[in-house]
Amino acid sequence: MDIYLTNTLTRAKERFVPADPGRVTMYVCGPTVYNYAHIGNARPPVVFDVLFRLLRAAYGEGSVVYARNFTDIDDRIIARAAELNEPIETLTARYTKIYRDDMAALGNLAPSLEPTATGHVPQMCEIIGALIDKGAAYKGKSGVWFCVAEDADYGKLSRRTQDEMLTGTRVEAEDDKKHPSDFALWKTAKPGEPAWDSDFGRGRPGWHIECSAMIRANLGETIDIHGGGIDLIFPHHENEIAQSETAYGKPLARYWMHNGFLDMDGEKMSKSLGNVVLIHELASEWPGEVLRWALLSAHYRAPLGFSRDLLEQSKASLDRLYTALRRLKDVDADDVDAPDAFVAALCDDLNTPEAVAVLFGLATEANKSEKLPEQQALKGRMLAAGALIGVLQGDPEAWFRSGDNVDEIDVLVAERVAARQAKDWAEADRLRQVLAGMGVEVMDNPQGSTWKRVG
Ligand SMILES: [Zn+2]
Repeated sequence: MDIYLTNTLTRAKERFVPADPGRVTMYVCGPTVYNYAHIGNARPPVVFDVLFRLLRAAYGEGSVVYARNFTDIDDRIIARAAELNEPIETLTARYTKIYRDDMAALGNLAPSLEPTATGHVPQMCEIIGALIDKGAAYKGKSGVWFCVAEDADYGKLSRRTQDEMLTGTRVEAEDDKKHPSDFALWKTAKPGEPAWDSDFGRGRPGWHIECSAMIRANLGETIDIHGGGIDLIFPHHENEIAQSETAYGKPLARYWMHNGFLDMDGEKMSKSLGNVVLIHELASEWPGEVLRWALLSAHYRAPLGFSRDLLEQSKASLDRLYTALRRLKDVDADDVDAPDAFVAALCDDLNTPEAVAVLFGLATEANKSEKLPEQQALKGRMLAAGALIGVLQGDPEAWFRSGDNVDEIDVLVAERVAARQAKDWAEADRLRQVLAGMGVEVMDNPQGSTWKRVG
């Protein structure tokens, strides 16, 4: 299967050809661990998890190395640890765990590697040293700066003009950079801040150099795919390219991929608007699979309008698919591949909306099918397609029972079973009414009672 991906570097959809099919490499910029991640932060890891699954299907599970890092040293981390009056490591360990829990709730596979910035400081210093030696970086009092004017290629990813690159550049009072576009590779230690010794004085790394070093150390000089949100194209990815390619003269990544923005009810999510919604809050109200479905409902490069309506539609879509699977719950699924049309949609620049349409077609067929061999094949194809995008792997019965009052329902159903055993029919009937009022239908059978949500 040929996979086509849109490469931000060339602005074209290109056939993906890995440098080494035996070791396909992908890096996605991960979170800065100082706070809960919001649903907008969830879009890149879900999109690139689908690509990870597709690459594993194409090249073999052991042949794809996917690294997603943790940024565990940063201005915001230092500020938040001070605010909470706790050690930085305590803060970052807590939010690293929370992030991993969020990712698991969204149904993401664990990446092959999860490097941390603090685990790669010597490798960062090595790149900075190489840049200084080449005259591409200079040392000031405030730190070491990358000299943008020395890099003829600078701006090739974002295709910004010099003027555009200057907007949004932050110059702090103590900075002694020579040009406003220059960016920090190393920041001289300030009192009370974490710092490492280096050839260019005690200090800590800038953000961009972290990824350059983690990529080089874990995946190699040139990787196949580098991914992230569209907001990272400039300056972060532009600066990763500048550092790595200037230091070593080799391309950093062969394919650059970026997912579009996510907005909330038609507005940009922002603290000032008060519309920031956290993954863990949503995951306490909705099955993670619904959140995942919603995140994959638009093409990854298109903007995604997130809303309660979208979540309700996503839940309804999954209900429809699980209904078809529940009908076939006693049928043994064939061990088959996902249907060609489904795979073809994903291979066409991860066209998840088109892939999902194929899945609905299978569900429609499965709902009508009365012949066992056909049912076995349809169930097998639905499950294989679902696995490629990380959905439909759960027990269909459990899907319809899921919700936040499961424990309460289980208790009432158990009380009703006890009432029936005691031949207290009036009580059993009363409990059936109570459960019906909660949208729960009880089905009695010789072994006991089962239940499902209705309506
Ligand atoms: Zn990065």
